[in-house]
Amino acid sequence: MTTAYLNGQFLPLEQAQVPALDRGFLFGDGVYEVIPVYGRRPFRLDRHLARLQNSCDGIRLVNPHTATEWQTLVGELISRQDFADQNLYLHVTRGVARRDHAFPAKAPSTIFMMSNPLVTPTPEQFEAGVSAVTTADNRWLRCDIKSIALLANVLLRQVAVDAGATEAVLLRDGVLTEGAASNILVVRGGVILAPRRDHLLLPGITYDTVIELARAHGMPIEVRDISEAELRSADELWMTSSTKEILPITRLDGAVVGSGRAGPIARTMLAHYQALKAA
Ligand code: PMP
Repeated sequence: MTTAYLNGQFLPLEQAQVPALDRGFLFGDGVYEVIPVYGRRPFRLDRHLARLQNSCDGIRLVNPHTATEWQTLVGELISRQDFADQNLYLHVTRGVARRDHAFPAKAPSTIFMMSNPLVTPTPEQFEAGVSAVTTADNRWLRCDIKSIALLANVLLRQVAVDAGATEAVLLRDGVLTEGAASNILVVRGGVILAPRRDHLLLPGITYDTVIELARAHGMPIEVRDISEAELRSADELWMTSSTKEILPITRLDGAVVGSGRAGPIARTMLAHYQALKAA
């Protein structure tokens, strides 16, 4: 059984309970982070905590902890699990109050964390890649906030699952935004293309890391709008996230992408990413 954290207490996950009037439950009024932990070391925790702060600011929620306090809590939760590679989930809501859309005058935020075994793609899964389907991005206009209100993402991911695919690749006005639960990058003619970071997509920590690694290793990269035509004529297509890391998409709407296997640039990027994790 894994140990969770709820409002100041560590307890078995099964015992973590939140009142029905929690605004997270009633309104999805909260923000979250998912942090990968390798060998009990949280990867890029500072970036995740900075994004958490941005998400809190984006919904006008006072962050209940300083970065140093979060580091201590996260470290404590990690040390309490009996497995080393972890998927650490951290969530803050606007607390428990009489049901009213407007902010409560005074309600302490609800803080919840859990850590589960981290499952990343195997080398075989990486080589084979996964399939994805395109669909219209019908989410709100603040996709840069990592909100727990994920209904649109849930419905979009289910579109993929119903089609027997792993991910939904989202297009807004003919431009690639991201995946239902990942960022999407394209490789064409040896150049990595990454969608612009704006309010229409989540600034993924993995996406940022990939861009940093490309620049550090002199791999050609352009950050700009990517058209549907460019997406459909990609040599390589990747989904990136903290748990999927860099995972090739080798079929898009049933059409084979590139060679139909992981491409050479994906392999190089994954090698750089693995080296960074081990550093
Ligand atoms: N976009 C969305 C919509 C996501 O839910 C996620 C994370 N699951 C990402 C992008 C990737 O972000 P990260 O690399 O920080 O996991």
